[in-house]
Amino acid sequence: MKTVLITGASRGIGKACAEKFASLGYNVAVNYKSSKEQAYELCHAQIERGLSAKPYFADVSSASDVKKMFDEINKDFGGVDILINNAGISLIKVINDVSQEEWDKIFAVNAKSAFLCSKEALSHMLKNKWGRIINVSSMWGISGASCEVPYSASKAALIGFTKALAKELAPSGITVNCIAPGIIDTQMNSVFSAKEISDFVSEIPLLRMGAPDEIAHCAAFFADEKSSYITGQVLSCDGGYTV
Ligand code: NAP
Repeated sequence: MKTVLITGASRGIGKACAEKFASLGYNVAVNYKSSKEQAYELCHAQIERGLSAKPYFADVSSASDVKKMFDEINKDFGGVDILINNAGISLIKVINDVSQEEWDKIFAVNAKSAFLCSKEALSHMLKNKWGRIINVSSMWGISGASCEVPYSASKAALIGFTKALAKELAPSGITVNCIAPGIIDTQMNSVFSAKEISDFVSEIPLLRMGAPDEIAHCAAFFADEKSSYITGQVLSCDGGYTV
């Protein structure tokens, strides 16, 4: 049975991915940082359904936390076959109000984490000559969002990371792909008022927000055995916003 690690799986898109992969029969390693109770509840619910899921703490911007998490997962499941770099944070501020600390934190959580987790996952994937790395970027990494410069830049970094790593790992049977979600109905968007959301939605060709399980569906597509000839790609799931 293959093992998938989903970072930031306690809620939102990560949680939907955990539920999806558990229902597809994978061992699911559910990473959380602050939302311990939600992560344990999520795993408990999967186990009650006869599925396999286990929670693992790590601040994925910390190399020592990431190493410890991988040591535990490797002991429990023998290695990570599919890595979904999903954990992320946003920041809404004009550029002149963004501090260096905020810039560094956004890049550490949104981009450095993918580097740290991919490095840890690679020893098992390289040994097996099989692996899937799936990065969750954003449509703002493609088109840029006003008042979200560090977020957009960190998500663009993930796209460059995806393309370069895909080329480097292709000869080893490992694919690296990226999902660029549009506006998805999760806690991340709770900072916006109902009016701001409805103004935004009116500009989306499909005239609605996306659901977390629609992003999980994209992740399952990239993970599928039959997707083995697809690498270095960015799949937009944004209701047509960036068309
Ligand atoms: P969310 O509901 O705010 O969830 C964020 C998740 O990231 C939580 O599970 C949180 O875990 C985790 N996380 C944050 N910092 C972490 C850290 N340092 N270490 C480990 N986990 C950490 O957001 P979401 O909408 O599901 O977002 C998931 C991903 O999709 C993010 O990368 C986001 O940028 C991207 N995305 C979202 C949208 C959208 O509209 N929602 C659009 C495009 C892209 P804890 O609660 O346990 O700390």
